[in-house]
Amino acid sequence: MAVTDPAPLPVPAPYDGETRGTPAREGVAHEGILRRQSARESAARTYARALPIVPVRARGLTIEGADGRRYLDCLSGAGTLALGHNHPVVLEAIRKVLDSGAPLHVLDLATPVKDDFTTELFRTLPPALADRARIQFCGPAGTDAVEAALKLVRTATGRSGLLAFTGAYHGMTAGALEASGGAQDVRVTRLPYPQDYRCPFGIGGPRGAELAARWTRSLLDDTKSGVPHPAGMILEPVQGEGGVIPAPDAWLRRMRTLTEEHSIPLIADEVQTGVGRTGAFWAVEHSGIVPDVMVLSKAIGGSLPLAVIVYRDDLDVWRPGAHAGTFRGNQLAMAAGAATLAHVRENHLAQRAADLGARMLGQLQALAKEFPCIGDVRGRGLMIGVELVDPEGGPAPAHPGTTPSTGVPTPTVSDPLLDGPGAGPLPAAPALAAAVRDACLDRGLIVELGGRHSSVVRLLPPLTISDEQAAAVVDRLADALAAVARAHHA
Ligand code: PMP
Repeated sequence: MAVTDPAPLPVPAPYDGETRGTPAREGVAHEGILRRQSARESAARTYARALPIVPVRARGLTIEGADGRRYLDCLSGAGTLALGHNHPVVLEAIRKVLDSGAPLHVLDLATPVKDDFTTELFRTLPPALADRARIQFCGPAGTDAVEAALKLVRTATGRSGLLAFTGAYHGMTAGALEASGGAQDVRVTRLPYPQDYRCPFGIGGPRGAELAARWTRSLLDDTKSGVPHPAGMILEPVQGEGGVIPAPDAWLRRMRTLTEEHSIPLIADEVQTGVGRTGAFWAVEHSGIVPDVMVLSKAIGGSLPLAVIVYRDDLDVWRPGAHAGTFRGNQLAMAAGAATLAHVRENHLAQRAADLGARMLGQLQALAKEFPCIGDVRGRGLMIGVELVDPEGGPAPAHPGTTPSTGVPTPTVSDPLLDGPGAGPLPAAPALAAAVRDACLDRGLIVELGGRHSSVVRLLPPLTISDEQAAAVVDRLADALAAVARAHHA
């Protein structure tokens, strides 16, 4: 099925080689805005550092900068824009609310707009959850919904510990950070997330996932494991920020069985994977599991801020006001979100993401054969990652060090005990990945990095991307890879 935006901007021509920020009048404004941003905004600013773009217009996959340049946007608001920028059904839904005279701020009061959103959302949920679902509208970021989920299971179980996974990303507020892979919190027990390429057991595949599951099981079964009976387990069905790592379906089913057997609520963080992104409406559907709690944000607001948790009614034991917040009633986001959910459902965009994602993955995997600096290509649906490695770096690194060929600090060097020939993947190459991202931008393609060492180039295009646009994305990425490989002899 060829799904296209009703009136997509044409695929922008690849960049013609002029330096960034053309000397036109717009270019001058563009430079001034960027200069003022770096002078005024905090050192913590994120995407803005790597993407010196001043977006002024956008539609579908395409963003236009103040300097007149156009880009294919495969960052999509960090995976938010299921329908791309300014999709007509989203704009129409927003306009309808604005024109209706409805209040825009309503705290958590009932409104027809909210009622429609909840109805549409429940329609998409796994039926076994939808039949008994409760919804909590949270503060408007994914991280607040994660906080709510953690609070909910702690209240419902009366326990405090949490099981979370290596490489996880759940947000930037205190509880969500604790549960994320960079944290060092004693209340959170870290378990191995299965991964093929950098498998902690050195084998990958179903056997690696099996060992990861066994570790979790032994920890739960062992009365002397030192891990108190936890309040919940939180996982991403595909780790996004962690480097685009899809959990095997069999492993997810094991996690579901184990948590059920031990009466541990299972929280699926679908903030990034939801609304068709992975090739199913919700990524848990691939494995058929039904979590006890789902954390939803990003695409459910149709590009505006919205975050909720949905959970089974027997967990609904918290007190009135247990998770309050002023901004939990964004009417425009609910209208945009309901329109997005309906559009994805009615147009089978999850299937489209599965088909197109498989094709793009295949094309990128073919590229990996050409370029030794591509260590791995992986993904699910339109959540795709290309991991850059140092081809001269020797396998299976274990300690902090420096990559000899590039002089770039890498987190690891070889360990003669563990690293025999063919013992593991090549070291991550964050500098090469950053060079690819910059080369993509020069070619009018916006991508971001992720992964443990920021060495994974990530593609999160809208589900509405046309075949022609997808081909342009792969072409530009291939061209960027070729340029970087040439320059770095990689
Ligand atoms: N969970 C996951 C899986 C995410 O990818 C993110 C954001 N990248 C979050 C939670 C946090 O969402 P937010 O940035 O809206 O707080």
